[in-house]
Amino acid sequence: MMTIDDFNFSDKKALIRVDFNVPLDADFNVTDTTRIEAAKPTIIKVLEDGGSAVLMSHLGRPKGQVKEDLSLKHIVAKASEIIGVQVKFVDRSSGTKAEEAVAELKEGEVLLLENLRFNAEEEAGDDSFAQELSKLGDIYVNDAFGTAHRAHASTTVVAKHFGANKCFGYLMAKEIDAIKKVMESGEKPVTAILGGAKVSSKITIIENILDKVDHLIIGGGMTYTFVKAEGGKIGDSICEDDKQELALSILKEAKEKGVQVHMPVDVIAADDFNNDANTQVVAVNEIPDGWQGLDAGPKTLENFKEVILQSKTILWNGPVGVFEMENFSKGTIAVGEFIDKATKNGAFSLVGGGDSVAAVKQFGFENKVSYVSTGGGAMLESLEGKTLPGIAAILG
Ligand code: AMP
Repeated sequence: MMTIDDFNFSDKKALIRVDFNVPLDADFNVTDTTRIEAAKPTIIKVLEDGGSAVLMSHLGRPKGQVKEDLSLKHIVAKASEIIGVQVKFVDRSSGTKAEEAVAELKEGEVLLLENLRFNAEEEAGDDSFAQELSKLGDIYVNDAFGTAHRAHASTTVVAKHFGANKCFGYLMAKEIDAIKKVMESGEKPVTAILGGAKVSSKITIIENILDKVDHLIIGGGMTYTFVKAEGGKIGDSICEDDKQELALSILKEAKEKGVQVHMPVDVIAADDFNNDANTQVVAVNEIPDGWQGLDAGPKTLENFKEVILQSKTILWNGPVGVFEMENFSKGTIAVGEFIDKATKNGAFSLVGGGDSVAAVKQFGFENKVSYVSTGGGAMLESLEGKTLPGIAAILG
């Protein structure tokens, strides 16, 4: 795998696709700098080699229109502070003005281009736009894992205009390594913990990982489709009736493949979808009408603990309860604590895709697991076994 360490950037201009799609408040302050910090090591490597960095990114969804509020100029000050270099800015992402700004760039300098998605050609994956972009650097570096599942001009198409002069940045390399550790070379036992609201949004992941895991923990709202399919009483719990057969076939396939499936045995049931609802602990298959399961129960957590603590490789995707409400967040917090403990005992743990990352950050587990993915959709598609176009373009 070609990474940035295989290149020396002395006297070279690196065209780096970063993911600076950061949240801004009403006064255009960056409210979460994670993505800028994540791109820093790659930028610093280029500068320390004696090269210069041309950064390109999208911000929000301007849909091919120039939108002042989505200009990347708003993040120049914050990016300069984080990178430690005064970042220059040009209000174009291609064309003569951008090319002139690149030509003026000296060793050790950083230039940020305007929002790529001000041009409709970016999301269309337009090849002539990609070719225009390719004039803005000698070596193409893709460090935007968050958009690696998109075949856009700057994330995928541009790569072919660089011949062998293309590579992954450090962030991309870390993400790819983390996925490999779980999906290909994970030390056994390998455990996947899948939660979240719906079976339908996780089905492709489940099907893909059944070949790779020893244990599958199913939690959260998904549980009730399985329990109902097996003849249990789920009261008013969330359920996808049309996915019941699918649930049964997953369980059958898991059995055939020797995967041990662990589902909740008891739940915290509530008489309303509300933090202040009345609650009771009940068996997962005996939830009374008028009640719905909103979190994992104590026996369930004991069982999950036993499985997680003996695991050597752990993937966590999706909360095991309605973690946004304090009274139903305890199961998800407990799972985080078990993973923390397993990680301290030497397990490799990856958290990725959708709401699990939000839960991990909210409850402070970010630095206690081995790796938290920065790309929601890109991580989900990787776990589904898809080859991401942004990755294929560098490898090809
Ligand atoms: P996902 O984006 O698929 O990971 O789903 C995350 C969402 O699932 C969160 O918003 C949780 O509140 C929700 N969720 C988890 N458990 C339940 C449950 N028992 N009932 C309803 N929603 C749930």
